[in-house]
Amino acid sequence: MHQVKIIGDSKNYSVGKIIGLGRNYLDHIRELGNKVPERAVIFCKPASSLLADGGMIEIPGYSNDCHHELELALLVGKRGKHIQEKSSLEHLAGYAVALDLTLRDTQSELKSAGLPWEIAKGFDTSCPLSDFTAIEKVSNPNNLELCLKVNGEIRQQGNTAQMMRSVEQIIAELSTFFTLETGDIILTGTPAGVSRIKPGDHLEGTIEGVGSLQVSVA
Ligand code: MG
Repeated sequence: MHQVKIIGDSKNYSVGKIIGLGRNYLDHIRELGNKVPERAVIFCKPASSLLADGGMIEIPGYSNDCHHELELALLVGKRGKHIQEKSSLEHLAGYAVALDLTLRDTQSELKSAGLPWEIAKGFDTSCPLSDFTAIEKVSNPNNLELCLKVNGEIRQQGNTAQMMRSVEQIIAELSTFFTLETGDIILTGTPAGVSRIKPGDHLEGTIEGVGSLQVSVA
């Protein structure tokens, strides 16, 4: 799946880059014992990491510790560079529910060796994603309840109001580094509660007013 769409719209968006934001919720920074960053922590996932709603997560054999990270996803609908915060939402087409699956053991190993962590974040199926809801349907992206259940049990619960950087600030900051192009996807970080998933688990993520996503672990 390299194409995404907005519910109620026939247009398909070809996915460009997927940019992830790390450490955007204070309680999640604390649970991993990380430092609060001055500059946004940014990484990319390839489009080949996408997994559609209803799909099966395949945890790579080199990891024993795959974590779920529930996140609000943004779909870029209009190209821009050095975007101002006040006009940032004009560059978005929609919002979706995403999981930024992370191989925590692999990531920690690579981080401590000072090496890049793409294989911990960008493996096939590491980015389950729902269909997008048009931005007009969401009045305030910075006040949305997020909830992730694993096998019916709540593991993550938060609100985008807890983000250290708002949606507008994220778009403005990212666009100073990368030209944002139609079809790019931005993952806005995860609240506390990340934990290991294992074969056979069923995950259900919901974001109030945006939608829901259900995937299972192979
Ligand atoms: Mg994340």
